[in-house]
Amino acid sequence: LPPSESAAAPETKKSFPKGPVVLGKDGKPCRSCTSFRDWSKKNAKGKFSGSAAATIATTLPSDCPPDVEALGRSTWTLLHTIAATYPSSATPTQQTEMKKFITLFSRVYPCWVCAEDFQEYLKEPENKLKVVEEEKGRGHLSGRSEFGLWMCKAHNNVNVKLGKKEFDCSKWEERWRTGWKD
Ligand code: FAD
Repeated sequence: LPPSESAAAPETKKSFPKGPVVLGKDGKPCRSCTSFRDWSKKNAKGKFSGSAAATIATTLPSDCPPDVEALGRSTWTLLHTIAATYPSSATPTQQTEMKKFITLFSRVYPCWVCAEDFQEYLKEPENKLKVVEEEKGRGHLSGRSEFGLWMCKAHNNVNVKLGKKEFDCSKWEERWRTGWKD
């Protein structure tokens, strides 16, 4: 989709990460772009002061719309599980489908600030997803090992951006496919 038609494209100027509550394309606060903690603070503004503000809920109730963290956790579960069930050797058609999926995913992801950064990540030469025919070598989409590693690095890129610890990518398959070795 061209950016103007993208579900995640903002009409407003990118506002993240200046303030804790990120605005959506309609100029209103975007829940799926904001942590529940910051969302609660916003809703409590004017109602609490001083130490009472510290009692604001920080855990997202299970029956509430997802915040940026709950959405992210569920999405990474889906993405890594897709990588874990990708064929060990993918045909050009399977590679093409996966490339399309990731490209479209990066345009419709509901946290638009996350989506924009991910789109930029996909454009970097070393991260680009290309369909490679078997006789011409292997690429990020050639099979499960390559694609799982690519996904792990993409996730680490976000971890670093958020100041989190990097995951050891030699362990991605134990985490998402086989289970931990004893
Ligand atoms: P998560 O990062 O969600 O990870 C879930 C589990 O995956 C972890 O418990 C761990 O077991 C495993 N794991 C962690 N790292 C890796 C890895 N590298 N490879 C394999 N497994 C791993 N949030 C923002 O605030 N700003 C953003 O710009 C942003 N961009 C995002 C972009 C995308 C494409 C996605 C899917 C999510 C994004 N998020 C963003 C959400 C963010 O990545 C986290 O999901 C969220 O902060 C919750 O983090 P968490 O610590 O609970 O674990």
